[in-house]
Amino acid sequence: MFAPETESWDIVRRWLRSAMPAVYPVEANPVPPSHLSPPGSPAAASTPPGSPAAASTPPGSPAVCLICRGPIRPGLARCYQCGRHGLLGPGLLADAVVPISYAVKGTAAAADLWRYKSWRTPSASARAGVLALLLTFLHDHGPCVWRHAGMASPSRLAVVPTGCGRPGPPPLLELTSPYLRLPLTRLAMRPGRQGRDLDIQRFYAERTVARADVLLIDDSWVSGASAQSAAAALKLAGARRVAIVVLGRHLDPASPRAGQLVAQLRPGPYDPSKCAAHPQLDQRW
Ligand SMILES: [Zn+2]
Ligand SMILES: [Zn+2]
Repeated sequence: MFAPETESWDIVRRWLRSAMPAVYPVEANPVPPSHLSPPGSPAAASTPPGSPAAASTPPGSPAVCLICRGPIRPGLARCYQCGRHGLLGPGLLADAVVPISYAVKGTAAAADLWRYKSWRTPSASARAGVLALLLTFLHDHGPCVWRHAGMASPSRLAVVPTGCGRPGPPPLLELTSPYLRLPLTRLAMRPGRQGRDLDIQRFYAERTVARADVLLIDDSWVSGASAQSAAAALKLAGARRVAIVVLGRHLDPASPRAGQLVAQLRPGPYDPSKCAAHPQLDQRW
């Protein structure tokens, strides 16, 4: 049967595969929910050989943070930053963090996440790529994200504000909101609250978010402090659940631990079968 909507998405996926730089997809994390532990405590390392968790972890797969999929020290469930966020903002963090791809420093895909929002000369091709990647991912894997966050589907959209004092709406909001049929909840930064750490008072959110389930989007995740501060602002304004979808989880290959992870990643064109929140990730933390 002719399905015009399916055909349209196929056209976008084909375009993504041919016109977008290779991405480093983030696949489902091998650590199951039963092995979640408080920040800083040993986790997956205690899994007995032959257990379901061990069986689900392909040999040689890199150890990654259960929250942000960044590199971690062996035996830990979360990276240092995500562990710290758990201490600074308990009960106020996002219910799910889903990176679409890794943004490996020095690659074309990572460069596009900057070029699309260049103040003076935004790149048209980077803007098209970022828009197509986000919309296609949400179409293909939105239900995985919502399930992972414990929501039926989001009822509001929010975008992590840019931290550089740039005037106007965040570039990602201006680029994508016309295509996302969700009412917008605006976030703004309180004066003087710039910083590198999680700060639950850095941003404030419109009250329109009360009792809402929110899709919170951002282009890059470096430490996650901005995105989690924005999630905290939404929760403080009454949001029920918050799901963060981020286009690129930053990795710097020059950093030893990230370098080990990068060495095990395989770049490729957008693949609709890969996602960091497939059903086995129905985890709460
Ligand atoms: Zn992390
Ligand atoms: Zn998925």
